[in-house]
Amino acid sequence: SYRKGGYHAVRVGDQFAGGRYIAQRKLGWGQFSTVWLAYDTKTSTYVALKIQKSAAQFVQAALHEIEVLSAIADGTPSNLKFVVQLIDQFKHTGPNGQHQCMVLEFLGDSLLRLVKYNRYKGLPLNKVREICQCILIGLDYLHREHGIIHTDLKLENVLLVSTIDPAKDPVRSGVSPILERPEGNINGTVTSLIEKKLKRRARRAVAKISVQRASMGGMGEAPKPERNIDGINVRCKVVDFGNACWADKPFAEEIQTRQYRAPEVILQAGYSFSVDMWSFACIAFELATGDMLFTPKVGQGAKSKDFFDRHGDLKRIRRLKYWPLNKLLIERYKFSETDANEFSEFLTPLLDFAPEKRPTAQQCLQHPWLAGKDSIPNDMRTESSVEKVDVGISNLKIKVGK
Ligand code: ADP
Ligand code: MG
Repeated sequence: SYRKGGYHAVRVGDQFAGGRYIAQRKLGWGQFSTVWLAYDTKTSTYVALKIQKSAAQFVQAALHEIEVLSAIADGTPSNLKFVVQLIDQFKHTGPNGQHQCMVLEFLGDSLLRLVKYNRYKGLPLNKVREICQCILIGLDYLHREHGIIHTDLKLENVLLVSTIDPAKDPVRSGVSPILERPEGNINGTVTSLIEKKLKRRARRAVAKISVQRASMGGMGEAPKPERNIDGINVRCKVVDFGNACWADKPFAEEIQTRQYRAPEVILQAGYSFSVDMWSFACIAFELATGDMLFTPKVGQGAKSKDFFDRHGDLKRIRRLKYWPLNKLLIERYKFSETDANEFSEFLTPLLDFAPEKRPTAQQCLQHPWLAGKDSIPNDMRTESSVEKVDVGISNLKIKVGK
């Protein structure tokens, strides 16, 4: 993909925007772009530099993402704490063409990495709560203040707020400002003597921390990763607005990643904000159990006709026995009865087939599973989600009462 119209090859120390940003290390990549940690010489901070592929359709997509990000950036500071912020944008010309670049605030690992790191066992429920609150505040802000649907919520698109500030702790974060391109024959995009040296330093620092932790536990054995989850600050932000749209002008019929796709999208019955709420429920389940809630596979096969009639109903099993969410949580995931009941009462309404019956982000924030168990201080929530306490859950209760 490093050819005309494709990615821009970056070397450590490369300069962008007239020397303002200096590439430090690759953070990740997607279908559209590579993302680099860069040092901003103007503000002496670290930023994430997203460099789009150069072909026309990618430039177009980047401009759309910039439009959405700029709209979002237009809010009160507290509202911005749970969505990624666009800092700057510019064009960069290289051997493969002209690349639209976005400068974003630097964030940490994705929730997917967090779940993997925890060996797919599911995170402690207090952490799940904290993450859910962050995502919901972000969604409430997007939905109500801007009328924007994210349309691609999944674990990869929620990033932890990095607890290590590279400017203050360059060794642990694996960087120290590289203000010039390293000398010598550098081959590829990431290998350089300086990078190797930094990596060695970072590895040594991590090893030292592990040894310290192990000796505190008195076990002479490196700590198991899942024990460290409690030490992780789980503030997080919603990222990747490449597919986001305004609810009044949806542009794609097929949205969302399959595992997180709402039923109305599969049926192509039109969609609105509630598609994000469906995906949110899938994320919450996955965080709490380590398993995806839905893993759809293609259903057509040579023997399909033996099992299904032409309406897609099972031929030989007339009544399906359902496994309610709370029972599933108890029986398969060994939740306590209280935890299972409370969590499934929170999730089940979000998984309603009827989109209009799903609670909104604002209503979810008032649900007993979250309300009163604040890990997010009030001054960090959006104003409106705090003041309209009586609108949310009381409405839901009225429905249940009837
Ligand atoms: P694409 O549009 O090409 O899919 P993404 O916006 O999803 O690009 O970014 C690709 C990857 O870069 C992400 O999965 C993540 O690992 C990393 N990344 C993106 N934005 C940031 C950020 N603000 N801070 C740190 N890493 C980021
Ligand atoms: Mg992406």
